[in-house]
Amino acid sequence: MTAAGIAAAVRSGQRTARSVLEEHLGRIAAAEADVHAFNLVLHESARAAADAVDAAVAAGRDPGVLAGVPVALKDNLCTRGVPTTCSSRILDGWTPPYDATVVRRLAAEGAVVVGKTNLDEFAMGSSTENSAFGATRNPHDLGRVPGGSSGGSAAAVAAGFAALALGSDTGGSIRQPAALCGVVGAKPTYGLVSRYGLIAFASSLDQIGPFAGSVADAALLLDAISGPDPLDSTSLRDAPPPASARLGAGVDGLRVGVVAELAAAEGISADVVARTREAADALAAAGAKVDEVSVPAAVYGLSAYYLIAPAEASSNLARYDGVRYGLRERGDPGGAGDITDMYLKTRSRGFGAEVKRRIMLGTYALSAGYYDAYYGKAQRVRTLIIRDFAAAYERFDVLLAPTAPSTAFALGEKTADPITMYLNDVCTIPSNLAGHPAISVPFGCGDDGLPVGVQVLAPALGETVMFQAAAALEAAAPPAHVPVTLGGGASQ
Ligand code: GLN
Repeated sequence: MTAAGIAAAVRSGQRTARSVLEEHLGRIAAAEADVHAFNLVLHESARAAADAVDAAVAAGRDPGVLAGVPVALKDNLCTRGVPTTCSSRILDGWTPPYDATVVRRLAAEGAVVVGKTNLDEFAMGSSTENSAFGATRNPHDLGRVPGGSSGGSAAAVAAGFAALALGSDTGGSIRQPAALCGVVGAKPTYGLVSRYGLIAFASSLDQIGPFAGSVADAALLLDAISGPDPLDSTSLRDAPPPASARLGAGVDGLRVGVVAELAAAEGISADVVARTREAADALAAAGAKVDEVSVPAAVYGLSAYYLIAPAEASSNLARYDGVRYGLRERGDPGGAGDITDMYLKTRSRGFGAEVKRRIMLGTYALSAGYYDAYYGKAQRVRTLIIRDFAAAYERFDVLLAPTAPSTAFALGEKTADPITMYLNDVCTIPSNLAGHPAISVPFGCGDDGLPVGVQVLAPALGETVMFQAAAALEAAAPPAHVPVTLGGGASQ
């Protein structure tokens, strides 16, 4: 059942939120041990939230557009009184004293939060293997990764543990796992969704966005969480463009540009290239005017991102010093300065290898002698990418590109070589650098039978047309990939 279908049934009293929740908790009980989508399942608070929704309906009140819809939250979104870990040891024992704005908006619309999902530590990674709590597995093939960093959220939706989920996308962390798990995932325009209560990775790139089983459900969730927020100074002041406004409008006459540099970039596997071409053909058959377009600077996005994101991360993560949050290791009283020793031991033990790598990369890129050569140059590349996209959007309404270079890869396959892992983000990063929205839609499968995702990109605040094109792409997609079968027959 879709999220919209659940909400309609619950609002009209046809179904109880509690029965919807128990169905999802049943699937979690059957298969979570195999998938490990969650850091924490919130059985009791979810039951209380569902019962409150049912009580509201019984009393004749409308609980909201997400009435009774089970939602999973990436565990870098602050939840009041509920541990929020970023899948890191450094936050051991820390519990946020406040809810993220998106969490408050979900509650206000009657959603039921089922749990906190696993991620790559501090959202750094593309496979969810960088979690301090162990990897998440792809529900389509338990020997493969779900993508990352929001792999737990993508897997939770793919496995039917939650109808919807929230993730964060700094360089592709919603879209790439959505593609690998065969679900829809969108990164909104920078500033559309409040980041208040999202634990920062790279503040100029981070955005919260939806995972769903369909384009319409993703739009429903995005519309519920977007909009101005005085608590986030980067949140846009104006009313957001409605993502759901033109879902059924089709693409007749719409100008669609296939990004030449990404559609057949080096390292994109042949089956993904083929699906992207078929997606373009499908939109053309539906009436769109499809042509190739060049966004030359896009190919430098990856290099620029791996300077800018670590630079911002090195600064954002300086706050985990053993004093203010979570873990504190004791300094050696006889040693070289107690407090310095405490910082050193806390950060050495609290952070995993990838987070340390990013902090070192970022600190180096920002150091006095290298600032211009690395950080400054990366910022100039960012400007070029924005300029090239602007030129493309003079001729096109939306753009098309692959989401990830391949289908889901095997657990452990890319952990030994960080660069191979980073290459996963080549097609998703340009949108983050530009601050533009992009959505990944499942489009057939690869040679191995696993899901492939194709991205629709739009200019800033182009969510309405982006979801319009995405809905048409979804309607034209080949019959769904192999269904998920988990826990002895529980399936979506
Ligand atoms: N995979 C990218 C990285 O490791 C993107 C992460 C993200 O979007 N949070 O930085």
